[in-house]
Amino acid sequence: MEGNLNNDPAGVEGCAVPVRVKKKAKADSSVIDVSGIPVGTGALTIIAGPCAVESYEQLLETAKAVKNAGGVILRGGAFKPRSSPYNFQGLGEAGIKMLADVSKQTGLPFVTEVMDTRMVEFVAGYADMLQVGSRNMHNYPLLIEVGKTRKPVLLKRGMMATIEEFLLSAEYILNQGNENVVLCERGIRTFETTTRNTLDLSAVPMLKHLTHLPVIVDPSHGTGHRWMVPSMAKASVAAGADGLIMEIHYKPEEALCDGHQSLSPDEFSLLMTDLKKVAKAIGRDLL
Ligand code: PEP
Ligand code: MN
Repeated sequence: MEGNLNNDPAGVEGCAVPVRVKKKAKADSSVIDVSGIPVGTGALTIIAGPCAVESYEQLLETAKAVKNAGGVILRGGAFKPRSSPYNFQGLGEAGIKMLADVSKQTGLPFVTEVMDTRMVEFVAGYADMLQVGSRNMHNYPLLIEVGKTRKPVLLKRGMMATIEEFLLSAEYILNQGNENVVLCERGIRTFETTTRNTLDLSAVPMLKHLTHLPVIVDPSHGTGHRWMVPSMAKASVAAGADGLIMEIHYKPEEALCDGHQSLSPDEFSLLMTDLKKVAKAIGRDLL
């Protein structure tokens, strides 16, 4: 592991950055291609969709709302890592097939979570991007398995993970030859109880300083409150994020999962208008 010398362009006290994710020079930054949609060009990539795929109608209507407002990648969980085994666990394989179908209809590539090494081949057969969720950031066999594919991977920060541990998990994927990794800050656990997580926006400039990998933010899981999502989405852009992933539902009050933090189509559309203004103010644009 390398040390953090003063003249190291990607160095900082307290973090030994692993070699493959480490920035080689100040301007060194990777662009990840998600079936034709780039992440990391400087223009913001907006990913949105329901927390979980619940039905064909729910997914299609939500995806249309995402597309109409300017979202470029669809999200949706079919295999859901729920804290309680009694909560809705997702539609599984049927949900993956719905995502593939709706993706084809709308032209939006999709990202979906893979929770288990045994499912990587199946999910990679359909998805444009594989999500490794917060709870699995430390699941090294899973990181190795997604690393063996050449699919883009959305790696979410573990809710108790340091920046160094986050980068080491990304390194596991790159080590297998898959360099298509996008990092996602989604909030960490602190003593605070008013928000679901504490959205660590300082992770954005820190990660951009340490690694060449693109960094996006999830203000939905990062706050747990629908009304907070627009503020933190705009703040994420101002902090230098390469994009956002947000939960949208065509009827948030009827959602089987995370409705309280999901935006309605109208709220999402309004937010997109605001995000364009914030992006412009800092010399950036939306894809
Ligand atoms: C999700 O994005 O669907 C999710 C479960 O988020 P996280 O892994 O960040 O909790
Ligand atoms: Mn969710």
